[in-house]
Amino acid sequence: MRVTKPATLAEAIRFLSTNPEAKILAGGTDLLPRLNQKLEYHDLLCCLDDLPELQGISLTAGGGLYIGASLRLWELAETPALAGYLAIQQAAAKVASPQIRNQATLGGNLLQENRCMFFNNQVPWSDVNKCFKWGGNQCFQYKGSKECVALFQSDLAPAMMAHGAQAVLTGSGGERRMPVAELYLSAGRKAIAHDEVLTGLVLPPLPAGSRSAYRRWTIRGSFDFPLVSCAVRLKVEAGAVADCAVVFGSAGIMPKAIDTSLIMGMAAGDPQGLAQKLMPLINKAVAPFRDTRVNAGVRVDMAKDCMAKALAAVCSG
Ligand SMILES: Cc1cc2nc3c(=O)[nH]c(=O)nc-3n(C[C@H](O)[C@H](O)[C@H](O)COP(=O)(O)OP(=O)(O)OC[C@H]3O[C@@H](n4cnc5c(N)ncnc54)[C@H](O)[C@@H]3O)c2cc1C
Repeated sequence: MRVTKPATLAEAIRFLSTNPEAKILAGGTDLLPRLNQKLEYHDLLCCLDDLPELQGISLTAGGGLYIGASLRLWELAETPALAGYLAIQQAAAKVASPQIRNQATLGGNLLQENRCMFFNNQVPWSDVNKCFKWGGNQCFQYKGSKECVALFQSDLAPAMMAHGAQAVLTGSGGERRMPVAELYLSAGRKAIAHDEVLTGLVLPPLPAGSRSAYRRWTIRGSFDFPLVSCAVRLKVEAGAVADCAVVFGSAGIMPKAIDTSLIMGMAAGDPQGLAQKLMPLINKAVAPFRDTRVNAGVRVDMAKDCMAKALAAVCSG
């Protein structure tokens, strides 16, 4: 295997456009295990680690924040610059283990591969090779599905969506921006071209009276992917809900936001009332299939619990 380490973003983009077989490597905590398990094959890696354009956090002209895609998750979790964006910091602090958070990047987290217990835990000669991810025509996780429905288990994606983050992509065609939600397409595909690099994220300024929180369910307390998670951002004006975003992670092939218009104007001091109002929407938001270790009904219950806890946290100030 060959690994190239471009010195600048322009060099990286040139390399990617002239080497269609090259694969981007950031922290490697998602990609390298897949290569080791022989779930993917790449002979040529393009390591983005030291690109200056992907580093750091800075203030934007509009009063928001620009976060470089190479920011390590430990830094995301601990930097005082992000103190008001609590859901993002809580999500970053929950990913995997301290060792992984020291190495893993924000960009890699948002663009990690979707996971499925049948694909990720299988040996190459197993019958599951006939699944969509192996180029077959069956889904073992959700029988009858016409495409791969492997879960997208990023912790950062729902938190970024709840805060209205924009992804900044740079490629040979120049720079473009899109809401993080639009990065995710059907069957686990991402809306990013081969010669495009996710260079960073732009967070809008925090409106006065805003609070956010992130809660997740896992089998183990640490070192585990979320079974389901929920990010909530709430803006309170004169004691009432003036704006609210609720986004579920590990909900299906992409994070799912629910419509919160039902709770506008309701008392922000009554998190249980807010949760009750939104509960019925969760059945549609969380995909009805067996996840890595829990069945559909339990996944929905866990999603309700995550949302109730996140709402309670933001309502308590
Ligand atoms: C044991 C274990 C537990 C884990 N637990 C969690 C968890 O709880 N929550 C969670 O969210 N994740 C978890 N992960 C997954 C992974 O560690 C994280 O998602 C991590 O943030 C990935 O970042 P990375 O920099 O290592 O990505 P990499 O592995 O380097 O890259 C991941 C993917 O993104 C692409 N990519 C990376 N950066 C860019 C860029 N700037 N532009 C374009 N493409 C890019 C790569 O080509 C690759 O396909 C876990 C992994 C392991 C091994």
